[in-house]
Amino acid sequence: MDVIRNYVDQHRRRHEQELAEWIAVPSVSATGEGMSAAAEHAEILLLRSGLTTRVVDTGGIPLVTGHKSGPDGSPHVVIYGHYDVQPPGPLEDWQSPPFEAAIRDGRMFGRGTGDNKGQHFAQVLALRALQDCYGELPCSVTVVLDGEEEIGSPNLAKTLASMRNDLNADVVVWSDGPVHDSYEPTVTLGVRGAVSFEITVRGADAALHSGNWGNIAPNPAWQLVWLLSTMRAPDGRILIDGYDSGVKPLTAGERDALAALPVDVPAVLASVGLQQIDVSPTGDPNEVGFNERLALPTFTINSLSCSDGDDHRSVIPSVAVARCDMRLACGQQVDTVLEAVRKHVDKHLPHAQLQFKATMAPSRTLPDAPFADAVVRGVSSAAGKPALLVPALGGSLPIAALSDGLGLPCYGIPLANVDEHNHGPNENFELYRFHEGIVTAASTLLSLGRR
Ligand SMILES: [Zn+2]
Repeated sequence: MDVIRNYVDQHRRRHEQELAEWIAVPSVSATGEGMSAAAEHAEILLLRSGLTTRVVDTGGIPLVTGHKSGPDGSPHVVIYGHYDVQPPGPLEDWQSPPFEAAIRDGRMFGRGTGDNKGQHFAQVLALRALQDCYGELPCSVTVVLDGEEEIGSPNLAKTLASMRNDLNADVVVWSDGPVHDSYEPTVTLGVRGAVSFEITVRGADAALHSGNWGNIAPNPAWQLVWLLSTMRAPDGRILIDGYDSGVKPLTAGERDALAALPVDVPAVLASVGLQQIDVSPTGDPNEVGFNERLALPTFTINSLSCSDGDDHRSVIPSVAVARCDMRLACGQQVDTVLEAVRKHVDKHLPHAQLQFKATMAPSRTLPDAPFADAVVRGVSSAAGKPALLVPALGGSLPIAALSDGLGLPCYGIPLANVDEHNHGPNENFELYRFHEGIVTAASTLLSLGRR
């Protein structure tokens, strides 16, 4: 790795400058701000790494891809990342403008530094480094940059399916999210899926005087609370019939990997001001450990509100709304979960309106899947110590489009610091990790090529 590490050391300033330029191109998929300029800039970055580029129409925001062939017989690696970013949120919460990279305390601040421009750019720079150092890539590589990840990648699966034969890939590598909380080098094997929905219960035409109308007008807020109480028991069990059909239990290898993840539960809870862990998803708090909880399904109330204002008035509200999400474990199907929720609401409160929002399928690659050893070896050798295997990331990413859609093993190599503040104000990427990320990505490709 010394050859690559020296190269990265020599090119630090240039790499940081190019990352700063990338951050300065706004690319907010939720509003469309800057997306076409961002697609052009993504193409320039891929061209600078010697790739042949394509801007692929998706029906929405395009994919930007870059390809270069490696030696005959070497595997074809897809590197997945996304060039869109979250909206910046309130500007006054940022210490420096979100779309002007600023370096403080060894970190680059700016929207997209960690999620995901800094991380996929480290991968792209690894391709440049390998060619500059060795004259060729160790594998065939196609970089796929999604422009719609932050809005749920609605067109990714169908677009990749149409590219499947041309791609003819063997394995997927992606870099997103932070490394494991312990800051040990990490290989992520899966992600949970997600569905979100809104339940609206309507009463009278307008808020009513609670004295004049109490016991007469049904209260939509009470009805909503009663409905929600039929959906999850106080002991933590989710009570929606059929929501978990198809869940694939963890394999022995996955349980071993989960058990090996270091965690200091009281410290994690204390870091967010908690003393107590939540009730267990199985109803038995002693049955499921901390790490396993992050691989199981969830049902979360995100918010509860009445449309008649936040101030305390003596009224029966006219509308009550619950916003909810569920995280899906491997094997759960988005459509089956939505159908189960629909049936449950229809049964318990037929006049409630149910509106489904974003969905994302779960993805899973097993610890003994093809190329797993090569990826772990590559990441470990760059770090100089063994990488942790994380069977399922708690959060959701559109990896199912690659793992299930293309039938490929998918390996996440998160590069960012745990406190990258992705999606929040003052998003940042420790520059040490950015540069080391280039080494890690190069090491992984070398390992895959040697396989
Ligand atoms: Zn994100």
